[in-house]
Amino acid sequence: MSSAQEEKLMTLQDQVKKLQTQKDTLLKELDSVEERSEKTSRLYRKYFPVIIDSVATGDDLFAKTCKKLSIALKKGESDGKIEYIFEQLKTAMLKEDIGSLPVAGKKKKGLFSSFIKSSSESFIDEYKQNYQEVVNNLRSTLEKKYTGKLDNIAARITAAGDTDDISNIRESVFSLIFVYISDTNQDREKVNSFVREVVGKILDIESKLATTYQQTDSMFQSNEGFESVLNSEMKGLKQTSDLASSLEELKNQVTRRLASIEKALLKKQEKDQVIKEVAEKTRRAFKSGFTKLKQELDEATKYSEELEKKLNQDQLTGAFNRRAYDKRIEDEMERFLRYKTPFSFLLIDADKFKLINDNYGHAIGDKCLQEIIKRTLPLLRKNDMLARYGGEEFVVIMPETDSKGAKIAAEKIRQTIEKIEFVYKKKKVKVTVSIGVSQTREGDINHQQIFERSDVAVYQAKEKGRNQVVVN
Ligand code: GH3
Ligand code: MG
Ligand code: MG
Repeated sequence: MSSAQEEKLMTLQDQVKKLQTQKDTLLKELDSVEERSEKTSRLYRKYFPVIIDSVATGDDLFAKTCKKLSIALKKGESDGKIEYIFEQLKTAMLKEDIGSLPVAGKKKKGLFSSFIKSSSESFIDEYKQNYQEVVNNLRSTLEKKYTGKLDNIAARITAAGDTDDISNIRESVFSLIFVYISDTNQDREKVNSFVREVVGKILDIESKLATTYQQTDSMFQSNEGFESVLNSEMKGLKQTSDLASSLEELKNQVTRRLASIEKALLKKQEKDQVIKEVAEKTRRAFKSGFTKLKQELDEATKYSEELEKKLNQDQLTGAFNRRAYDKRIEDEMERFLRYKTPFSFLLIDADKFKLINDNYGHAIGDKCLQEIIKRTLPLLRKNDMLARYGGEEFVVIMPETDSKGAKIAAEKIRQTIEKIEFVYKKKKVKVTVSIGVSQTREGDINHQQIFERSDVAVYQAKEKGRNQVVVN
């Protein structure tokens, strides 16, 4: 690289650095400008309608304009529109000479006229002052060729009278920045990202402003907000009246306004009371409706739970039925296939049950089946599932249990049932079961394989003489 090129590169790098610092400062400046103006705007939107409503009585131009302003403020109209109505208000005040009192050697000036005027002006002044700072900052960093444009903006800031002027100024400031960036031959990528950043910032500020106004509106509507605003206004006005006690006319004016503000407060309180009562009634209605709804929901839940239970329950024994078993064994198998968590399976078959029916009748047979379930259930773990597979056959699914553990459990079941004794016509009725035990094995792909192993085990148990546990 030639030394001339190197020098050019260094200058360029310098420019980039300078630009970045400048960008940061600018964004910061703009932030504070918007923040301050937001604050001012919020304040005046909050306080003015209160005073205006109280003061604007009568049918004259001043009162009409006041009402117009109050409506515009409550509706959250644009700053431009509100400024415009302010101007009309000032004119109306001058014409009607509202609230005026003589000041030595000067033109008569209304109390409220000066109040509104100063607030309105200070609102615009805030903008002006902040944008002047932005221009000063630009002046110190931008090259000489921008001086003319900066002078023009500075002059417009000085002359600015309303928010429309301010937004035009803001536009000019931004376009000047953009011109500067393209002039310095920054690569497009950087320019684009900067523009996006700035535009994003503006949108952000605008959306923040919108929500602030909305919040202010609801705050204003609330009883508390209204009362505190009015109270502070009254306090302020009382102080004014104390200070001006020597000026009878002023005192009269202030006292009159105090009375109307108090009247407005009472009226508002009455209105709020009605709103409050309606709200309270609605809340109570909602609450009782809610309680009823909750009750109905509880009942419906209970009913559906019972229904669900019935759907899965064997009517004779109260154990789970085949439907419940089919679902559970699928789930258990899926778990085994996915996570390799083993489970064991028992197939319990009552021995020579046909004989029990034949000898003692079907009712005794039924009782035996019920008793088998009743005695078996307490021997199982909470996660085990005992279901009636059909007829005099039962199954037990034992999650996370190996065949060793399952065999112990099966043996306990066998022994417990063995001890059952019914007395039928002075004869002892005994029932025994044969149990086939199997555990999931590597390579099992469906639950039928496990069932078949248990079935084979039951067959072996029967072969061996029944009342036995066989593991397969
Ligand atoms: P094994 O020891 O070989 O199992 O003999 P078993 O008689 O139990 O076998 P089999 O399968 O031939 O007979 C089952 C009997 O169970 C037939 C039926 O009368 C009886 N049984 C099935 N369901 C019920 C029921 O709900 N109530 C009653 N009381 N008996 C039933
Ligand atoms: Mg059988
Ligand atoms: Mg049997």
